[in-house]
Amino acid sequence: SVVMERILQRRSLQLRDKQQDWQETPEGQKMLEFRRSLPAFKEKDALLKAVSENQVIVVSGETGCGKTTQLPQYILESEIEAARGAVCSIICTQPRRISAMAVSERVAAERGEKLGDSVGYKVRLEGMKGRDTRLLFCTTGILLRRLLVDRNLKGVTHVIVDEIHERGMNEDFLLIVLKELLLRRPELRLILMSATLNAELFSSYFGGAPMIHIPGFTYPVRSLFLENILEMTGYRLNSYNQIDDYGQEKAWKMQKQAQSLKKRKSQIASAVEDAVEAADFKEYSLRTQESLSCWNPDSIGFNLIEYVLCHIVKKERPGAVLVFMTGWDDINSLKDQLQSHPLLGDPSKVLLLACHGSMASSEQRLIFDKPEDGVRKIVLATNMAETSITINDVVFVVDCGKAKETSYDALNNTPCLLPSWISKAAARQRRGRAGRVQPGECYHLYPRCVYDAFADYQLPELLRTPLQSLCLQIKSLQLGSISEFLSRALQPPEPLSVQNAVEYLKIIGALDENENLTLLGRNLSTLPVEPKLGKMLIFGAIFNCLDPIMTVVAGLSARDPFLMPFDKKDLAESAKAQFAARNYSDHLALVRAYEGWKDAERKQSSYEYCWRNFLSAQTLKAIDSLRKQFFFLLKDTGLVDQNPENCNRWSHDEHLIRAIICAGLFPGICSVVNKEKSIALKTMEDGQVLLYSNSVNAGVPKIPYPWLVFNEKVKVNSVFLRDSTGVSDSVLLLFGGNISRGGLDGHLKMLGGYLEFFMKPALADTYISLRREVEELIQK
Ligand code: ADP
Ligand code: MG
Repeated sequence: SVVMERILQRRSLQLRDKQQDWQETPEGQKMLEFRRSLPAFKEKDALLKAVSENQVIVVSGETGCGKTTQLPQYILESEIEAARGAVCSIICTQPRRISAMAVSERVAAERGEKLGDSVGYKVRLEGMKGRDTRLLFCTTGILLRRLLVDRNLKGVTHVIVDEIHERGMNEDFLLIVLKELLLRRPELRLILMSATLNAELFSSYFGGAPMIHIPGFTYPVRSLFLENILEMTGYRLNSYNQIDDYGQEKAWKMQKQAQSLKKRKSQIASAVEDAVEAADFKEYSLRTQESLSCWNPDSIGFNLIEYVLCHIVKKERPGAVLVFMTGWDDINSLKDQLQSHPLLGDPSKVLLLACHGSMASSEQRLIFDKPEDGVRKIVLATNMAETSITINDVVFVVDCGKAKETSYDALNNTPCLLPSWISKAAARQRRGRAGRVQPGECYHLYPRCVYDAFADYQLPELLRTPLQSLCLQIKSLQLGSISEFLSRALQPPEPLSVQNAVEYLKIIGALDENENLTLLGRNLSTLPVEPKLGKMLIFGAIFNCLDPIMTVVAGLSARDPFLMPFDKKDLAESAKAQFAARNYSDHLALVRAYEGWKDAERKQSSYEYCWRNFLSAQTLKAIDSLRKQFFFLLKDTGLVDQNPENCNRWSHDEHLIRAIICAGLFPGICSVVNKEKSIALKTMEDGQVLLYSNSVNAGVPKIPYPWLVFNEKVKVNSVFLRDSTGVSDSVLLLFGGNISRGGLDGHLKMLGGYLEFFMKPALADTYISLRREVEELIQK
């Protein structure tokens, strides 16, 4: 070991020399100068001192002050200085994969190294990490996964948890685990980093850990609300008539009132408020999130955004524009729309970029680069550009006021993913992005009074999402009783939510009655997908129809490859309907579309294929790589037949695929009653539900199946099923639920509840004999 120590020490010294050499080159000098100009640099010594003297510290500071890129580097550098460069191991978690990748690339560049030398990254599906990697940026999920096999984080010297103010579920979870780990590993250092100033909360969670604030500087940003924008740009809200997703009716009313008031500023402002009130905003004064949904039901008005962007490009001073959108699909559709615009689509005048979780890294770099003179950079981003990514030359921010967040209604156990209003803190954060280099402007696409009704802060994710995956993880990490563990969270979730999740895991057979992990549960916890999708994969493997099931699961855990461009929705829908010809299944349509794409790829016509069928090549590629990963993971479970041909022996059998989809998605089930002119759908929890218009089952005259199983339902005004597959009685009876739970009788009782509820008790008899037969077969 003395020899080993020598080797490590020598390697540490080499690292130090290498850094010094780089810093003496002209590029290195320039980089060093830039790094020294960041606000974090002034606090460098204080930060390092605090890290060495305390087990836990909390660091806060304005976005862009250098927390993420500098602080981990300071620690790395000081370890290298102290000749511990070869033995330290610093892990810095990021809530999103894209920031882990972007930041590691940046830090490597700042150190004049290749990614994978001393700085690396690891995210799901991808990574760049070498033997000498000492500073690893990874997603929080990756660190949690590592804890699964390495409970004590052996060898790790520093853990940095970034962006904790976002209060993501994984981060809150990680903090519970780390809090306990710190007791076992007294030499381990934990650094928490946050953008906004709720540092006290985290500090007190860790017994009063010291807080260090990095003072920052931003230029003032002028806030323009909808009423100001209307007045300034002269935009007429009645040109909304092409879109139906912005609550145009109310907008219309406002416009009429505004017109009659001859557009005088104060009067317009009050007209907006009046209109908001007139439109039955009784609860408005309650200032709850819920009452806000009256103003803007779903998405944001693309035409207004287009108009505002035109205004900026034509009339405003130079400077990049950052547009906050709700999600990837919105960004893509808007980008399509803008690209066909005579001014905004002209590449000699406008550089139009998208910034979201799954963009290519070449596109990523463009976001940070300055465009050529005379070209205006416009970046369409999700809320990740709020805090984790800083684009320096932004002068104008356009804020739609919404973000997609998962919320969860514990009472009827319904998860919903829908754009909802952001918090005041988030709106301020978005606005702040415009003041990095000079005074800026922020266009809020909603009235001031709506802003006033925003919540101060967003609810932590742990309190607004279903906890199934998390509970499974708690069990597989052997962290003891689920409810006891979660009660130690920063803000513990409601007991009812915990109870629902545990009950769900019992229904699908991942936990037994005593809350112990079953074999299925153990397998599910190793798969990087939601439990229900994991169950589908495992069934796909067992029943030898792996390929189509992997496609379905990849499609459901990535995103929908079917594009629905806003102005060609009809064409796109009929293209999708072709894939669903007579099979009444969005999931089977996806399988066909994917298989068609693979075929087209072989014939080198995939581009044309995607274009003709309104498919996203990028998403199909993502599905492709997810499938590959699933295959390897499933092989590890030993459930995949050794002979690769066998595992697809039944892949052509559509009935079986349907059955396995049902096995996975149960209890996501809805009954179908075909009426003369319409179809009535209902679920046990919600009563009447509707189909999302993109579903192949929407708008068909008749659905020849008594049931639909679905993956996702979304509550807007009514409850909508996003995707569905028709299944027969016998499939539901044989594949729905968990046969081992409470024996056959218990299972029957549960299904019986469903059958009775849907008034089909006669089916129970058929079921009993069928299922008995199956049970006997399985016994054999
Ligand atoms: P914080 O984490 O405090 O928000 P960061 O460490 O991410 O700040 O960023 C510090 C500075 O480094 C910012 O001014 C940002 O513009 C710059 N920066 C970060 N990433 C890149 C990049 N990939 N290319 C160029 N500049 C970058
Ligand atoms: Mg940061």
